[in-house]
This record gives sequence, C-alpha cells and structure tokens, in this order.
Amino acid sequence: MPDDGPTARPVTAPRGTERTCRNWAQEAALRMLCNNLDPEVAERPEDLVVYGGSGRAARSWEAFDAIVETLRDLGDDETLLVQSGQPAGVFRTHEWAPRVLIANANLVPDWATPGEFGRLEEAGLTMYGQMTAGSWIYIGTQGILQGTYETFAAVAAQRFGGSLAGTITLTAGLGGMGGAQPLAITMNDGVAVCVEVDPARIERRLEHGYLDEVAGDLDDAVRRATAARDERRPLSIGVRGNAAEVVPDLAEQGFPADVVTDQTSAHDLHAYVPTGLELKEADDLRARDPEEYRRRARESIVEHVAGMVAFLDAGAEVFDYGNGLRSEAQLGGYPRAFDYPGFVPAYIRPQFCEGRGPFRWAVLSGDPADLAATDEAALAEFADDDRLVRWIREAREKVAFQGLPARICWLGLGERDRLGAHFNELVATGRVSAPIVIGRDHLDSGSVASPHRETEAMADGSDAIADWPVLNALLNTASGASWVSFHHGGGVGIGRSLHAGVVAVADGTELAAEKLERVLTNDPASGVMRHADAGYERAAEVARTRGQRLPMRER
Ligand code: NAD
Repeated sequence: MPDDGPTARPVTAPRGTERTCRNWAQEAALRMLCNNLDPEVAERPEDLVVYGGSGRAARSWEAFDAIVETLRDLGDDETLLVQSGQPAGVFRTHEWAPRVLIANANLVPDWATPGEFGRLEEAGLTMYGQMTAGSWIYIGTQGILQGTYETFAAVAAQRFGGSLAGTITLTAGLGGMGGAQPLAITMNDGVAVCVEVDPARIERRLEHGYLDEVAGDLDDAVRRATAARDERRPLSIGVRGNAAEVVPDLAEQGFPADVVTDQTSAHDLHAYVPTGLELKEADDLRARDPEEYRRRARESIVEHVAGMVAFLDAGAEVFDYGNGLRSEAQLGGYPRAFDYPGFVPAYIRPQFCEGRGPFRWAVLSGDPADLAATDEAALAEFADDDRLVRWIREAREKVAFQGLPARICWLGLGERDRLGAHFNELVATGRVSAPIVIGRDHLDSGSVASPHRETEAMADGSDAIADWPVLNALLNTASGASWVSFHHGGGVGIGRSLHAGVVAVADGTELAAEKLERVLTNDPASGVMRHADAGYERAAEVARTRGQRLPMRER
C-alpha cells in the first residue's frame, strides 16, 4: 500500500517551454505522471489514486520520487522499466525505443484473483494501475466524457430517433469516470438522474459544471426529472443515496426511466458501498473486516442489478457500463445478471471494426492558447465529420480543464496519423509553444481483452483471448512509441481484463514525425486486424481498402 507519510504532498505538472529532462519524451512522461496526480485531476492524490476506485499512478511516494529523478536523467538511448508503479531498472536501448515501458498488476492466471492481488498489494509488491492512471495519460473526467457522449449518442440513434430529448436516464456513481455521465446525457439533450452515495462527489461535479443541480431527496429528484422531460429540457440532477436501495425502489414505484445504467466502482468490491452503512461506517467495516465488507457489497449489488432488470422488464433501455456490476451480481447468485448487454456489443463494436476509438492529447506548455490551436487543427482536418465538429465545439464551451489543457475525440485508422502529423507541424513551426503528448485510453479496439466489456460477445467467441493486447503493446514498442504499458484488471477488475496503453510525443522533429506516422497507424490497425480475425466483414473491408496485409484473410 502507498505510504501516506511525510512525503505525501500536492503535485502539479511543470509548465512552459523549458524542459528539466534531457529530451521531450522523458519530459512528457514526467509532466504526465505529475499531471495524473494534480489535485485538480486525481480523485485522491494524497494516496496516489487517480481514478477508478484505487487506480494509482505510482506505488508509493518514494517510488514516485525515484521515477521523477530517473526521468530527469534518462538518456535518449535508455529505457526505464516500471513494474507496478516502481522504477525497477534502466536499460540501454536506442532512440526509436520507448523511453518508458510499464507493466501494472499482472499476475499468473491461476493467481489472478482479487484476494491474491489484495494480499500482494498489501505486501507492497504490486499496484493497481486501472487504465490511464498507471499509464500516465489520464486527463480528468473529460477523457471519459467523449466516450460517454458517443455511447449515449449511439443509444439515442438506436432507440430514440437520434436524440435523448424527452427521455430520462437513471444512473449511479459520480466518480472520476461516472462523473461524465450527467454532462454526456445533457449534451445529447436528455435528462439525467444520478444516484451517488458520497455528497463530496456530487459537490465536485457541480463545481466542475458536469452536473446541473442537486435534489433535496429522491421525491424531489423525480419531480425535477419528470418536469424537465415533459418540457424536453436537458437537465442533470444529482441525488444522494445508495444505488442498491434507490434503483429497486424507483423500479417498484414505476419511475419512468427510459435508459438505465450504472458507473459505481463495482469492479472493486472494496469501493462499492453496501446498503445500510453510512460512509464512515463503511470505511470502518472495510478496515476491520474486509471479508464481511465484500460479502455485504456483493449482496447489495444483487439488489442493485435486480432493480436494473426490473427496469428492463418494464421496457427501458438497460446496459452495463463496463464496471463489472453484472459479474458481481452473478457471483452473488443472481441468475438474471446478464439479461442486459454490455455497452460495447450494444453500441460501440461497429466503430471498433474501423479502428475508431478515443484519441487524446495534452499540451505540455500548459497554455490554453496552444490547446485552442490544436482544436482548430482538428476542426480543419475533419471539417466534414459533423459528429467530431459538434463534439469539439461543445467541449470547448462546456468542458473545464483539469490540470494540463487536454482534448479527446474519437478518430479511426487513417485519421489519427493525419492529426498527429498536423500537431507535429504545429510544434515545428512554433504555432504551439511546446510539444504535444498524444495517447488514448483503453476503451479501444485492438489493445484490450475484456470479456465483459471491450471483447464481450465477439463474433467468433474469442472474448477471452489475450494475445491481441500483448501483440498491440509489442507492436507499439516496435513502432516508436514514447511509452507503452501493459495492465491487468482495468475497468472491470482483477482477473477480468488485460490491456495495453500507448503514448507518443509530437516534439516537432523529423524523427517524431516518422514515429508518429507508424504508431498512430499501427495502433488502430491492430484493432482492425483483431476484428477482421474475429470475422467482422467491415473490419476486413477496412483492412483491404487500406492495403493492410492480413495473411489469413488473403488465402
Ligand atoms: P470512482 O471510484 O472514482 O467512483 C465511483 C463512485 O461510485 C464513487 O463516487 C462512489 O462514492 C460511488 N458509489 C460506490 N458505491 C455506491 C453505491 N452503492 N451507490 C451509489 N454510489 C456508489 O470510479 P470511476 O472512475 O467513476 O469508475 C466507475 C466504474 O467505471 C469503475 O468500476 C471503473 O472501473 C469503470 N470504468 C468504466 C469505463 C467505461 O468506459 N465505461 C472506463 C473505465 C472505468
């Protein structure tokens, strides 16, 4: 466990055009690690927790200091190896090699259980890196906002004629990821009721402008939601409560929810708050008797999911939002846990077949004017893409930065490398004052094996095959990425996923242009390969059009 000793302190990323490391790739890793822990960005920076329950950026403050010192001194022909949040070694490599390689929370399959992981974490031997926490490319709630916006846009297109106007979405969890839901729903013109057990989280979302209002109690939330729906007025309402009580209660009352989902931290039974306990009591029980805590959390999750299934039976659009809630309910003995689908097979897979997914960047100068220049570049480059243009315009207006100015949008194969080249040009010509860091999260087409999320219900049944994320990490390493990471357990929890991250730095040099072209082509192309291999015709067609060689499809 991380120490909370004398070295715990507020951290922010260095800004400006002067670097403190020997080159920009190292500087970028250092700034993004610090940015992950910026109090504006991280959920619990004092514990090195960035988001997603206990997703950490470094294992301990001592390890954090050692990483920073090592990056400051790291040469252009050296690579730092980070083992679950501690800097394990520095090796002589070459200038095309990544400056940092990261492995987080990986366990041999028979030992890959939450209990064993908890034991090893307690012993100080490993760290849970979630997805972009341990791969140093978390950019605050905006990161998930785009994915959440895309998901709700797809729900609207599939079920409600292209808009959520006049509909109510019921969800829970206003944490680092879940906090994006209210804004994503109102951006799609809908009404959101968000149940959250921790009032501090509700306050934080109000402060950041992601949530419009907080209701006094549940009846008040119901009144406000139905009034806004009747006027077809977008509105998001936070309400304090435990989802395992509130969701079944609302189903019982016949609350007219059109869409129901959830983003409590159910991937980690220690982070899900069981019913019947105040927050303080939950903390005490977790510390005193973790086994009993887990038992009660799972029991509550059964109630929660039964409530969601009651909404399904009543005709609502119900989907799992990638937090492992259904698996826990199933483990708790609830037979109908998988009656409703995960969001990927329901809405996202066709985009994965085209290598489309989250593409994010941050300007290392910290200057909002630099971000504005990159926004303009994206708008110019993809002026015909209505969805992207609408998103960037809305995001500029409604998204408050957390930490370094950053943006995310969804781009596919053939688009990412174009924008990467454009960004590198902006740096080379001085239109942007310092380099730009480009990465993605792990809600991605080629870099994830997660049978209850990204790879749920694959056409050929290959949901649990994890060769693909390994190949993705190796390919990005071979293609010139600035840092590459391989993780276990992100999103849905320990034992349930393996996934890889990648970051590349546009520093304006010719070498960066070559590396960006390869990484930003090969990374999404590996997703197209994975989906073509699983038998998706659209993916095979994209590969053919692009001249991407897939030997088994050429026979
Ligand atoms: P978080 O830990 O920051 O927030 C979870 C929130 O749920 C907290 O605010 C907590 O108070 C609240 N909560 C816990 N139990 C509750 C209960 N019984 N009733 C009401 N509220 C409760 O986590 P996060 O970063 O917001 O992530 C949420 C979940 O989504 C995690 O399981 C994460 O792994 C998963 N996730 C999803 C995606 C995606 O793309 N959909 C991506 C990454 C992570």
